[in-house]
Amino acid sequence: MKKYDICIIGAGPAGYKAALILAKNGKNVLLIDKNEKRIGGTCLNEGCIPAKNYLESANYLGKFSYFASRGLKGKTDDFDIRLLKTKTDELLDTLRLGLQKKLSIGGVKFEYGEAVFISKNEVKVNDKIIQADKFIIATGSIHKEHPVLAIDEKYIISSKEVFKLEKLPKDILVVGAGAIGCEFANFFNFTGSNVHLCEFTSSILPFEDKDVSDTVQREYKKQGIKVDINTTVKEYGIINKKIIITFEKNGKTFDGAFDKVLISIGRIPNTKQIGLDKAGVKSDERGFVEIDSLYKTTNEHIYAIGDVVATPSLAHMASYEAKKIAFDILKFVPLKESVIPNVVFATPQVGSVGENEKSLKEKEIPYNVKKLFLKSLGMPKIKGNDSGFVKLLFDEREFLIGASLVGYDMTEIINQVAICINAKLKKDDILSMIFAHPTMSESFYKTLEG
Ligand SMILES: Cc1cc2nc3c(=O)[nH]c(=O)nc-3n(C[C@H](O)[C@H](O)[C@H](O)COP(=O)(O)OP(=O)(O)OC[C@H]3O[C@@H](n4cnc5c(N)ncnc54)[C@H](O)[C@@H]3O)c2cc1C
Repeated sequence: MKKYDICIIGAGPAGYKAALILAKNGKNVLLIDKNEKRIGGTCLNEGCIPAKNYLESANYLGKFSYFASRGLKGKTDDFDIRLLKTKTDELLDTLRLGLQKKLSIGGVKFEYGEAVFISKNEVKVNDKIIQADKFIIATGSIHKEHPVLAIDEKYIISSKEVFKLEKLPKDILVVGAGAIGCEFANFFNFTGSNVHLCEFTSSILPFEDKDVSDTVQREYKKQGIKVDINTTVKEYGIINKKIIITFEKNGKTFDGAFDKVLISIGRIPNTKQIGLDKAGVKSDERGFVEIDSLYKTTNEHIYAIGDVVATPSLAHMASYEAKKIAFDILKFVPLKESVIPNVVFATPQVGSVGENEKSLKEKEIPYNVKKLFLKSLGMPKIKGNDSGFVKLLFDEREFLIGASLVGYDMTEIINQVAICINAKLKKDDILSMIFAHPTMSESFYKTLEG
């Protein structure tokens, strides 16, 4: 039987970040994941990194009409997804190896296998019993099943299977217009598929403000992506190698034929098979682990972080939570609270942080809005895409409390806004600064001037 200071289950952004900090500060840390190819978790292996690598290539194709307008002639109809897959696999191997090396140098020990709690202070993995003073549950999340369309990996796929495709579908339906669904709608559209995006709520990107969702939907229409909101899938059948979907919208039904259907209706915490009951750890009806403000579960020796808890399911949130609990274990000065930036790598991109108009109205907090359309600036035009806007929200004392940004490069600029909110800056503090011209980020400053 092996005994460690800390045993961490799951080597995603939550688990590996906690392992690195704790081991570097002298703790004897064991990090468990299912196999070596899972180091980096969903984010590195089948989430943020491959998805953004796929989108980067697709975005160049999306910009081809712009290239032509600047005199650069070329053809895009021989795009080879197999090469993109190979290059992405190479990138993931490089990043995974780098991470593994960093963890090893940092002193982290590894065990590969499926871990399960067998008591309040023991985990079993590969027939070994592991004891530790503290455990960290960081087992992440898994694909959420659609009630009608179960994944068959042939006609019906999840985001994971996109990275295995050897051929692009001619017609694809994307079910669910959250961040992942919208990003893949752009990927398939730019790489030549006919894309139909359906969403059961009343707007795409439903957690964003309506002006954000409406702008992205309007741009999708221009790009040729068909969008149906307030729409559900009722049933399906396979005819002549096509999947025929029956939709229902506003009480009416209609059919569509596709080569593939991508399900992106969200993810659920991966907590069912890890023996939470044996560990004395409670979870809610959706499977999220119950935690206190320091991420301690109902067993005070066990923490839970990342996608297994009901905080925003984002890689950077998982890393922040890892740092927070590592500091608690190490008895360091606690981290300050931070606003959480949210990014969608659609075209146009979306970045939001802090409050939005929806949340402020719900909380009945009075606010002032400053909004600037990007078409009024030079740099968005030079970039070839001037759709979108910057919207900044201030409280009554003129403190910046939130922002919603839509447009080119806005996933980068949102971090600057987050810094200003975290620094508790007022409108005049930002207005007294100098922003370089011409840049995309001056849109943030110019919004305040306008
Ligand atoms: C397509 C896609 C795109 C995304 N894009 C973004 C993005 O752009 N930005 C962003 O912030 N987030 C993005 N995300 C979300 C992000 O990937 C997750 O929020 C993040 O990975 C959560 O980190 P985690 O450490 O909690 O869990 P995970 O990364 O899921 O890691 C959990 C690990 O635990 C392991 N594990 C599970 N059970 C066991 C067990 N019993 N024993 C041993 N090991 C186990 C798993 O193998 C896995 O490696 C995306 C997700 C997807 C699917």
